[in-house]
Amino acid sequence: MRRLAIALLGLVSVACGSGRNSGPQVIAHRGFWNTAGSAKNSIDALRNAIEIGCYGSEFDVWVTADGVPVVFHDARTATGIEIQSVTLDSLMQGAEPLANGERIPTLEEYLTAWNHAPTKLILELKSHRDAEADDRAAGIVLDAVRAFSVAPDEIEYIAFSRHAAKAFVTRECGSPVAYLEGDLSPADARKQLGVTGIDYQMNVLREHPEWIDEAHDLGMTVNVWTVVADDDMQHFTAAAVDQITTDRPDALIEQLKVEN
Ligand code: MG
Repeated sequence: MRRLAIALLGLVSVACGSGRNSGPQVIAHRGFWNTAGSAKNSIDALRNAIEIGCYGSEFDVWVTADGVPVVFHDARTATGIEIQSVTLDSLMQGAEPLANGERIPTLEEYLTAWNHAPTKLILELKSHRDAEADDRAAGIVLDAVRAFSVAPDEIEYIAFSRHAAKAFVTRECGSPVAYLEGDLSPADARKQLGVTGIDYQMNVLREHPEWIDEAHDLGMTVNVWTVVADDDMQHFTAAAVDQITTDRPDALIEQLKVEN
């Protein structure tokens, strides 16, 4: 029943159009996990985001000590394993399953499940232990993405780490790159890091509403996270941000349909 409901919602959203002309692009935060039987950063949540027609599905990536990118949010598992310090084998042996019973996906498994669906990959590279580790991780991620023949317009990169954001730019990923930390104006983010967009927490953009126009004047995009409440969705839609990252992508898609 849930699958049917999700599929129908997807059809409706496609029929109504969810492109840039009808408001901000909808990005599911850690996938569309807010449904029975799903979990944040799970393959199931990615599939749900694809099914309801999200523009993009965000997910978090760490690279293990032996150079394997995996999809997981925290630096450590609940059992205390620091992902960047262990091999993939040790991680998989010691980590508990996700809340829906899936094991932690590798990036390769995640890309295989996505399989070039129209929903874009919004890949957040987590901040590793230092600049060198960030740069290494960015290189490994780009190699994995290229090995899967992901086209530059099928993926966007985001990072809190200035080193990581810069690494995607200097390694000529060819895709949009946005900075998450919120401590640079759009002009400074572009000048210092070379990024194509800002992806800032709601309160930052409420404090600096002028950064939205500033970014647009520079040809940069504005993404805002993590929007949950209906009135915040309305506020940032009216503020003409380009993308909204939300834990309730289904609700935002519905709201944008009503507004158009
Ligand atoms: Mg994230």
